[in-house]
This record gives sequence, structure tokens and C-alpha cells, in this order.
Amino acid sequence: MIRSPFGEELNIFQCIRYALDKSGVLTVLPGAQSVEEVETLLSYYEQSEEVSDYSIMGTFASPQASEKCVYCNHCKPCPAGIDIGLVNKYSDLARSGDAMAVEHYRTLDKNAGDCIGCGHCDRRCPFSVSQSERMQEIRKYMDNHK
Ligand code: SF4
Ligand code: SF4
Repeated sequence: MIRSPFGEELNIFQCIRYALDKSGVLTVLPGAQSVEEVETLLSYYEQSEEVSDYSIMGTFASPQASEKCVYCNHCKPCPAGIDIGLVNKYSDLARSGDAMAVEHYRTLDKNAGDCIGCGHCDRRCPFSVSQSERMQEIRKYMDNHK
């Protein structure tokens, strides 16, 4: 039975990845009622990115919930080699006061400053994020927080 108000729901691997992708979340503890359920949960580590890709959410999220990067990386690949989800995550964490996030951002091989503005991510994003514009904002923000 589907209990989601959207009439569709994510699989458990999509749910776990979605939770782990959120800013500040380091651990997810799903409930389990049997050994079989624990084994199923542990198989998360063996799943392909396609299985845990939760970007389908973009098709049943309300318009108010869109235009916000949720770090799903469905917009990959970036021709400039940017991990778009991670760059956005560090940026959001930094803006929420996490000083370590700026340091982590600086360790990335490629960051917002490497964006060439090709727009591939804009076209691929199911959440209607104008990511190429956001990359410019992130670059400016991070440049001002050295
Ligand atoms: S820009 Fe869109 S597709 Fe890319 S990580 Fe953010 S929400 Fe996901
Ligand atoms: S617009 Fe920038 S971040 Fe988006 S895919 Fe192109 S180079 Fe990558």
C-alpha cells in the first residue's frame, strides 16, 4: 500500500541515500523487524547509483519544493568534473555556520570556480534548479570566505 501523499514512493535505498545526502547527516539508522530486513538494508552498499537515485522525487514534489538543490547528482556528468551535489552541500553547510564546510570545499579537485556555464546540469535537474547560476553564486560566496 502506498502511503505517500504524492501517490508514489521511493524505494528504501533511495530513502537512505536521500537522508545521507542531507546537510549535516552522517548516519542513518533505519528500523528493521527481522534479520531479512537487516540484510536488505545492508545491501544498500551493493546497490548501483541508479537504484538509489532519488531524483524521481522531482516529478512528484510540489512546485514550492522545487528549485532547491537536494544534492542528488542526477545532473551528472558535469563536463568540468564538478561534483555538483557536494559543492552545493558544502555551500549550504557553510551558509548555515559550519566553518569546516569551507575547508572541505577547498579540498575538492574541482569546485564552483571551474564551472564553464555549459547548462548541462540545468537541463538535467528534475528539481528545476538553475545550477549554472548557482555555481556562480557559490563561487562568489566561497571567494569571500577565505
Ligand atoms: S542541481 Fe538538481 S540534479 Fe543536480 S544535484 Fe542539485 S538537485 Fe540534483
Ligand atoms: S553548468 Fe557548470 S556545473 Fe553545470 S554541468 Fe556545466 S560546467 Fe558543470
